[in-house]
Amino acid sequence: MPYATQLDRMLIGGELKHSSDGAFDESINPATEEVIGRVPRATAADADAAVRAADASWPAWAELTPLARGRMLRDFGQALRARSDEILRVEVADTGNTITPMRGDVGMAVDSLDYYAGLTHELKGETIPATHENLHLTVREPYGVVVRIAPFNHPLMFAVARTAAALAAGNSVIVKPPETSPLSAMILAEVARETLPAGVFNVVTGDGRTAGDALVRHPLVKRIAFIGSPITGRAIQRAAADAGVKHVTLELGGKNPLIAFPDTDPDAVADAAVRGMNFAWQGQSCGSTSRLLLHEDIHDRVLALVADKVKAIRLGDPQDPSTGMGPVNSRMQYEKVLSYFDAARADGARLVTGGGRPAGADFERGFWVQPTVYAGVEPGMRIWQEEVFGPILSVGRWKAFEEAVEMANSTEYGLTGAVWSNNINDALRMVRRIRSGHTWVNGCSAHYLGVPFGGMKNSGVGREEGIEEMLSYTELKTINIVLR
Ligand code: NAD
Repeated sequence: MPYATQLDRMLIGGELKHSSDGAFDESINPATEEVIGRVPRATAADADAAVRAADASWPAWAELTPLARGRMLRDFGQALRARSDEILRVEVADTGNTITPMRGDVGMAVDSLDYYAGLTHELKGETIPATHENLHLTVREPYGVVVRIAPFNHPLMFAVARTAAALAAGNSVIVKPPETSPLSAMILAEVARETLPAGVFNVVTGDGRTAGDALVRHPLVKRIAFIGSPITGRAIQRAAADAGVKHVTLELGGKNPLIAFPDTDPDAVADAAVRGMNFAWQGQSCGSTSRLLLHEDIHDRVLALVADKVKAIRLGDPQDPSTGMGPVNSRMQYEKVLSYFDAARADGARLVTGGGRPAGADFERGFWVQPTVYAGVEPGMRIWQEEVFGPILSVGRWKAFEEAVEMANSTEYGLTGAVWSNNINDALRMVRRIRSGHTWVNGCSAHYLGVPFGGMKNSGVGREEGIEEMLSYTELKTINIVLR
C-alpha cells in the first residue's frame, strides 16, 4: 500500500518542521500492518521551541477582539472542512476505525470551533457588592500556553474540538497527537499554519515519555488538558506537580454501566447495548457502555437479541462503507484484548459470541479480534472491573434496585452511565445513585454540542465540551477599585 499521506512535518511557531535530530516514527495501518506514513519524533528541544513560540504568540492573540478571534476560529474550521475527504481517508487508514461513522469526526471538530467562536463574548467577569464605597470586580485572563495531549481513537477530532475552547479563551495551544495514529495531525499542521497566526497552534508529534513529558514539565506551561488512560493521566499529574503548580484536567477511561429495568422494550435495550459499545471503532471509546446490567425478567430475551446483533456485525476493510467493525488500533491493543479473553475464561465468564481472532484469508495480517459478548459476568471478574478499550461487552444480571446500584458503582471508574426504564421515578432514582459524570435516560453513546462531559472517581477531573471548558482555560483576576 502507498503511504496514506506524504506529509511528515509538525508545526512549531508557524513553520512546518522535522525534528531537531531528524528522527521519525513510522505509522502502521492496523488492518494490514503496512507502513503508511511517518511523523517527526520530537525531541525535548522541539517541545521547548513549541512552548516558546506559543508563549510569544498568545498576548497578541488574546488582545484580538472576541469577534475577531471567533472569526479566525471559524475560518480554521472551514479550511479543515475543505480537506475533510483527505483527512477521513488518512484517519481511517491510521486508526482502523470504520469510514461511515468516522465521516462525523471532522464535522464535530468544526462544530466545536463554531460553538466556541460564538461564545467568546462570554469570557466575562463579575462585579461583587463587597463594600458600598468601592468597586470590586473580576476579569478573566487566559493562562497563556495550553498543552493538549490526545489519545489514538479519534485523533483529529480531539486535537481540534478539544483545543477550540482554549483558543477561544485567548490561549495559544500545543497539540501532542498519539503515537499510533498521528498522521492526520500532519494535515492539521498545514491547515493551522495557513489559517491561524504563527505560534497560536502548534503540533508536536513523538513519544509521550519524551515530547509529552517535556511539554508537561515546561515551566512556561501552566495549563495541561489530557485525554487518555488513567495510568498516563496519573503520571502526568505527578510530572506536572514535580515541575511546578499547574492546572491539569483529565478525561480518562470508563467501564460504563447500561442498566435496564424490566419494563423496557427488550429490542430497544439490545439496540442501545450494541450501539453503546461503539463497535464501529472496535469498542475503543471511553464512553462505551461495556457493562450491561439486565434485570432478571428481561435478561435472557435481551441477551439473545444482543447476541444476534453482535454476530451480524461484519468485520472487514475499514475503508469499505458497509463494514461494521475494523481492526483494533495497534499490536499493543490487540494483545491487551487477547489477554482479556484469557482473563474471562479463567474467571469463569460464559462466552456468548466472539472471544478470539476471526478466521479467513482477509484477517491473516492486521490486528483483528471478534466483537465479543460474555454473560454471567460478576463484579469480582477482571472483565467487569477493568477497561478493555476493545470490543468486549460484559453482561450481568440483577434483581433488586439496590443490587443494581451496587453493581453499577462497583468499579474505580465513573465516566458514563445509561439507564433504561419507562418509569421516570425508577430512571431518575437510579441516575441520582450512580457515580458517573455523564448519564443518559433511555439513550447511550451520544455527546451533544455544548453539554458538559467528564468523569467522576478515577475517570477524571474537570468537565469538557460546554462553556465550563472555555472558562477552565482562564484565570480570574480580581480588581478592587478603592474610591476616594
Ligand atoms: P495513553 O494514555 O496511552 O496515551 C494518550 C496520550 O498521552 C498519547 O498522546 C501519548 O503519547 C501521551 N503520553 C503517554 N505518556 C505520556 C507522558 N508520560 N507524558 C505526557 N504524555 C504522555 O492513551 P491511549 O491508549 O491513546 O487512549 C486510550 C485511553 O484514552 C483509554 O483509557 C480511554 O478511555 C481514554 N479516553 C478517554 C476519553 C474521555 O473523554 N474521557 C476519550 C477518549 C479516550
